[in-house]
Amino acid sequence: MSQKVCPFCGGSDQRCLHFVGEIDHTFGEVSGVRELDNLSQVADNLDRFFKKGKPTTNNTKNTLITDLYSSWQKTGSIDQFILGRFIVSLLLEAGAKRSVSLNPAKDRKVGDSSASMPGFTSSETTLFAASPDRVAGAALEKLKGYLS
Ligand SMILES: [Zn+2]
Repeated sequence: MSQKVCPFCGGSDQRCLHFVGEIDHTFGEVSGVRELDNLSQVADNLDRFFKKGKPTTNNTKNTLITDLYSSWQKTGSIDQFILGRFIVSLLLEAGAKRSVSLNPAKDRKVGDSSASMPGFTSSETTLFAASPDRVAGAALEKLKGYLS
């Protein structure tokens, strides 16, 4: 296992002042700063939103919304794996940064904020930010923007 290190202070216990949260891609679960609790409701928000009709181009500026919608149409539920990626993309858009790996040969590069995440293999993503609460709040605003 490679250790995940804060890109701001180099702390490795994931509980430094910059720790935003951890996203479990297997279950689409989010844990971290309190403001992230709101992002735990993303699946419910999306479910309600999709029931109202097909997303418009304004909604799908984040292409993961398109992916979530097409899988929702097929299964009637929010795909947890895409959901985790979507939450990560919201937080990265809001200014969060991925953890730095002490074993860079094994993990992907830091600072790649692409939503599609090529080479994505980890089952968890750990994110940090200079102002974790603010970034979590901003991510929620991004979500509201996409779903308006
Ligand atoms: Zn730190």
